[in-house]
Amino acid sequence: MSIKAEHINFLYGQGTAFEQYALKDVSFQIQDGEFIGLIGHTGSGKSTLIQHLNGLLKATSGAIYYNGENIYQEGYDMKALRSRVGLVFQYPEHQLFEIDVFSDVCFGPKNQGLDPEEIKERAREALGLVGLPKRFWEQSPFELSGGQKRRVAIAGVLAMRPEVLILDEPTAGLDPRGRDEILDELAALHKEKHMTIILVSHSMEDIARYADRILVMNHGEKLFDAPPREVFRHYKELEQVGLAAPQITYIVHQLREHGVMVPDDITTVEEAKTAILEMLQKGGGQS
Ligand code: ADP
Ligand code: MG
Repeated sequence: MSIKAEHINFLYGQGTAFEQYALKDVSFQIQDGEFIGLIGHTGSGKSTLIQHLNGLLKATSGAIYYNGENIYQEGYDMKALRSRVGLVFQYPEHQLFEIDVFSDVCFGPKNQGLDPEEIKERAREALGLVGLPKRFWEQSPFELSGGQKRRVAIAGVLAMRPEVLILDEPTAGLDPRGRDEILDELAALHKEKHMTIILVSHSMEDIARYADRILVMNHGEKLFDAPPREVFRHYKELEQVGLAAPQITYIVHQLREHGVMVPDDITTVEEAKTAILEMLQKGGGQS
């Protein structure tokens, strides 16, 4: 799997009085097995961008290559693309509609025209991957908790066996437990199934913890494209565009201002703990 976006521009309402630039000259590449964090202030173009990757929106100009093939070329199989690039929308539970959880998860593979046994097999597999216990499978999705509903929605996309999983703020509005469960499942999908993941999130902590690389959007443009430690080193520039670094990054910089010279590229609490313990062992904390 590989994705390459080349000079993507996108205008909403092209040719109308409401014409609005949503993406400006955005280019990037994603390789198989990466975990990408996509961040940016509200209205920066994140949701617009991800809908280009499975062909739901078509760039006003520029090109997108999936596995080296231009998805805008004549005769390109967009339907196949949509099952390879699984997109979990924001508040996906609003799109649950079948009478029971299992039927809901069957919807995608059914649409792919698979035979009934294969459909069921995939639904069972997907519900297993999101860790939803069997006792819920025959229930109405509307009887579940917020976090469980969202896991059903994610299972519905996984049941199509996508190569890439894109999630638009999958933890928005969940309590900490529901949030952690979903993030842990995504981490497991990435680690154990080598699934390529693109996670849109407002939480810098979550992004720092899970992403190998971060794309930062600002007013429709790509501002940064680098690993977390490099992106968060620019925390002052991030603040100027309505973002921030993880809390721990600020603590680390404060410590350094007070002469405790922990490395300045720490982005997770775990890394900070290791670095501080190391300093204490070396006697660095006694000066
Ligand atoms: P984000 O997901 O980062 O909050 P969006 O991709 O939703 O950003 O929006 C990018 C820009 O496009 C914003 O200026 C937004 O107002 C505009 N926009 C989003 N959706 C539509 C739409 N359906 N019609 C017109 N403009 C839109
Ligand atoms: Mg959005």
